[in-house]
Amino acid sequence: MLVYKSDDGKAAMIRLEKGEDLYEGVTEAVRDLGIEAGTVQVIGGLTHAKFGYYNQGTKEYEEHELPGGSEIASCVGNVSIRDGEPFLHAHVVVSGSDGRALGGHLLPGSKVFLAEVYVRALGGEAPVRKVDETLGLPVWS
Ligand code: ZN
Repeated sequence: MLVYKSDDGKAAMIRLEKGEDLYEGVTEAVRDLGIEAGTVQVIGGLTHAKFGYYNQGTKEYEEHELPGGSEIASCVGNVSIRDGEPFLHAHVVVSGSDGRALGGHLLPGSKVFLAEVYVRALGGEAPVRKVDETLGLPVWS
């Protein structure tokens, strides 16, 4: 993992290595940088994509995978606190060789071919996630 910090220390560009897990790699990077609240953007490519669709009826994630090479056409997210630790929430849009896009909630299991990550810390109090029983999701409270 290569990290290029901004001169004010509030942002960084990070390159994840081939084979790293996208979700775990970005999470590790923001924790190493001490970011408790911030925004995340990623472009690059994956060798395997894994993402979820939140079924609002069952309140469970349905998992989807795109095996083989794909482009990270877009991946945006945020960092807040969950269970006392910096927590990444990101969504990803990937496209295959036919140019068609798929996407959803980024799950662990997406393997990096190349990932160029931008993270920016926000000042002030970090949002803390707690489970909202109506939604069935850990949201900012
Ligand atoms: Zn999500």
